[in-house]
Amino acid sequence: MNDQMNWKMAAEIIARAAKSWELPKSGYVKLGYACNNHCRFCTAAWKHGAGDRSTEALRQVFDGLLQEEGVTRLDLSGGEPTLRSDLVELVAYARANGAVQISLQTNARALARVDWVRALKEAGVTSCFVSIHGCDAHTHDFLTDRPGSFRQTCAGIRNLLEHGICVTTNTVVTTANAQQLSGLVMFLAHSFSGLKHIKLSYPHLQGGAADQLEELVVPLWKAAPLMVAAIEEGDREGLHVETEFMPACLIAPHYHRASEIDRPRYHLSDVQFTVPEIDHTSSLRPRYFLESCGDCILRNSCCGIHPLHHATFGDADTHFPPGRTVLAEDAATCASGSKAVE
Ligand code: SF4
Repeated sequence: MNDQMNWKMAAEIIARAAKSWELPKSGYVKLGYACNNHCRFCTAAWKHGAGDRSTEALRQVFDGLLQEEGVTRLDLSGGEPTLRSDLVELVAYARANGAVQISLQTNARALARVDWVRALKEAGVTSCFVSIHGCDAHTHDFLTDRPGSFRQTCAGIRNLLEHGICVTTNTVVTTANAQQLSGLVMFLAHSFSGLKHIKLSYPHLQGGAADQLEELVVPLWKAAPLMVAAIEEGDREGLHVETEFMPACLIAPHYHRASEIDRPRYHLSDVQFTVPEIDHTSSLRPRYFLESCGDCILRNSCCGIHPLHHATFGDADTHFPPGRTVLAEDAATCASGSKAVE
């Protein structure tokens, strides 16, 4: 490797790091746990009956984030936030008090109603992160355990895009849909004009996924090549496909499609507690690394292997390819847009 190449790679890494600092300061707020789906892998299924926060309590959380912490982007999650009758009021309050970007994490079933989408747009919602877990009703409705949910979610996505609200879809990868990930990308590309971003999430091994390990969870080494194929299908279709909770080295050569790599720090406000500032490398989300991670350049930002995953599958699912450690030149080449790492 010559000096010119080394400088080019170093410049790309620095530029990427600088870009992550420019990302808006974010607040992630759980509005409550009630949900109209009953996803089999849900990490919070046992909390669905927990009471929601009051409107006033949430206004105070917003005040703290927006006025005291300088947050300008709010991610409103649940449970299912669209079940709250005060959602429009809450969004409008956040917008009036300094939120520039407001994103809903939603299954979008309620957004099949156009008037609801219009009201949320007028109040200030700028984007939605929509859960869709299959490319057909059979798969999606099985995973959500709610017949008819696929049809409503698709209608919701369409309404959002038609109203100029950015959508990123999220699919939790399980035994029921892993083999159709590339087909899912094609389905999304051809069904939703204006959709640009897709996320494929490896499940948290807690809640429903932990209770039904054999039925639902695909080992990492099997899920990774299916995700890579879906990323490449997205490239062909003009869609940006990212992964979540998947070690970056397993989706080589697409390391930077691991969403954790450039994730900014954010403030978390859960129903039971508020945390001043965290990132995914904090103790709230402990990570496990193998000895062979060695000096991998992505170690500081990589999600690693979830401790529960390792506790469950042990080394049997962590015999990753030798030499998988990500080197600076690999990461830089990938970051610069080149797909292949020589
Ligand atoms: S830190 Fe370990 S698990 Fe993460 S990308 Fe590097 S080698 Fe893979």
